[in-house]
Amino acid sequence: MPVPFSDCSDSYDVIVIGSGLGGLTTANRLAYCGHSVLLLEHHHRLGGLATWFKRKGHIFDISLHGFPFGMIKTCKKYWNREIMGSIVQLKNIVFDNPQFSLRTTFDKDDFTSILNIKFKIPLTVINDFFTTVAGMNFYDDQTMTTRELFEQFFPGRTDVHRLLMEPITYANGSTLDDPAITYGIVFSNFMNRGVYTFEGGTDKLIHMMADELEKNGVTISTRSRVDRIVTEKNKVIGVEVDGRVIKAGAVVSNSGITNTIHNLTDRSCFSDEFIERADAIRVNNSSCQVYIGIKEEESIQDVGDLLFTSTSEEFDSAELLDLHTRSKTFSLYYPKTRPGHNRYTIVASMNSRYDDWATLSDDEYRAEKERMAQRAVEDLSRYLPDVKGKIDWMESATPLTFNRYTLHTLGTSFGTKFEGLDISRSIFKEVPGLFHVGSVGIIMSGWLGAINYGVIVANDVDTYLRS
Ligand SMILES: Cc1cc2nc3c(=O)[nH]c(=O)nc-3n(C[C@H](O)[C@H](O)[C@H](O)COP(=O)(O)OP(=O)(O)OC[C@H]3O[C@@H](n4cnc5c(N)ncnc54)[C@H](O)[C@@H]3O)c2cc1C
Repeated sequence: MPVPFSDCSDSYDVIVIGSGLGGLTTANRLAYCGHSVLLLEHHHRLGGLATWFKRKGHIFDISLHGFPFGMIKTCKKYWNREIMGSIVQLKNIVFDNPQFSLRTTFDKDDFTSILNIKFKIPLTVINDFFTTVAGMNFYDDQTMTTRELFEQFFPGRTDVHRLLMEPITYANGSTLDDPAITYGIVFSNFMNRGVYTFEGGTDKLIHMMADELEKNGVTISTRSRVDRIVTEKNKVIGVEVDGRVIKAGAVVSNSGITNTIHNLTDRSCFSDEFIERADAIRVNNSSCQVYIGIKEEESIQDVGDLLFTSTSEEFDSAELLDLHTRSKTFSLYYPKTRPGHNRYTIVASMNSRYDDWATLSDDEYRAEKERMAQRAVEDLSRYLPDVKGKIDWMESATPLTFNRYTLHTLGTSFGTKFEGLDISRSIFKEVPGLFHVGSVGIIMSGWLGAINYGVIVANDVDTYLRS
């Protein structure tokens, strides 16, 4: 149970700022290793972007759309078997666009068969492609872009590029011009065994994680926004919340890396060379979502678990980000997704740029939100023609919404582009005792990336505290 900030002690071994999946995992691992840990979260609930909200009997999940099979092993090893036990496969992934319409289990066998039979790509080329992407590592050469990778294997085949790229753009915000490794690593993770979800919803997962934190003795304080990371002689000594300083041997920031460097830490602690590289970090895109709730007495037919739909002629990374994009993903949540909760909800997700929304007047903002919701219902009606009359709740979120709830620079959904990874990994070399965990470098984002990164950073902190 979270405690009021006033009840927190004056010092801990470690303070974790932020309770995204990365922060939660680092806090849990360090407490498990015997360190005293304080977890401070500015919002009233834990989870960061792994969150949910309730309206009129509906529970809407924000970022529970799909993650790779690797989550099963990660949760078993670093959380517990109960959490692992609720991870189930989504078997019905649907694509519908002017170039093709198909249904897939989104794994290597099915993709091989689709590429070979439907797209007429020779098996040798498909196998070579899979072998190449499966062999990619994050320390590999970053000069080749995803566009170049696709042209090498499937020259001029924009339909194949779309099949391979569209879901990954939604999953981590990467574009055709990002380093091919940011595509290859994430794509291979999914191809391993398909797309998975957490049965019971994000609320169940975060409550189970909170129980585990409590068991391991983490002190949690929500509604506690850290204003400053306190340093002395360039070394971390604690954090400041509402004018009160709490001391710690190490501080782990799960706030965005750009926030951590530019807003939370005294910039004079960093070398000029580090600041120069930090200033060059590009923040990844944000998202828009439309949440649609179906009346209690109504049902909808099964049209897939994830539906990648677009009326745009070809895949184009810029089109997916446009304020008026014609591409979106529908996540359909049936009663089976939340056993015991007999409701249907649908979430439409679009990639989006913060500045497109932040520069609108209040009236324009309201009008654009309304138009976005209407477009979502129109698009959904192509698959569920009678859906309009069944809806009893609609609400939308924009990049400004994500910024408000997580404080992320430009409301980013997936942290930073590739260059953020090195900065995040080396921050403790600049300021002893200061660590960063959370979505960076595209690879370390998403539910699996954030949790795995949480484990890596916990090991760094443990080594530092023991040395
Ligand atoms: C719309 C959307 C859909 C997504 N869909 C998927 C998906 O289907 N699959 C998938 O794997 N991933 C998905 N993601 C991405 C995934 O949710 C994130 O990459 C991951 O949850 C981020 O975890 P994190 O550890 O980086 O922390 P975050 O979730 O970013 O949390 C950071 C936390 O730090 C807190 N904080 C920040 N500053 C302070 C401060 N000064 N003091 C106190 N607290 C602070 C914030 O309030 C927040 O709770 C999606 C994201 C979005 C936005």
